[in-house]
Amino acid sequence: MIVGYESSTQKFRERTDASVVFVLRRKKCACGKEVTAKQLTQYSACRTCVAAAIRRVA
Ligand SMILES: [Zn+2]
Repeated sequence: MIVGYESSTQKFRERTDASVVFVLRRKKCACGKEVTAKQLTQYSACRTCVAAAIRRVA
């Protein structure tokens, strides 16, 4: 039996139900800049951090 599973699942559903479309939800990049969830899913960072990472590799 997983203690706390029921309540955390319920809280998760409450939050996701209350929010707008997933990809439009605001997330924070490691640098602190707010980006959309879609951007983080695709690049796992904001545009600035992705560009910086590419510059470091090149
Ligand atoms: Zn960033």
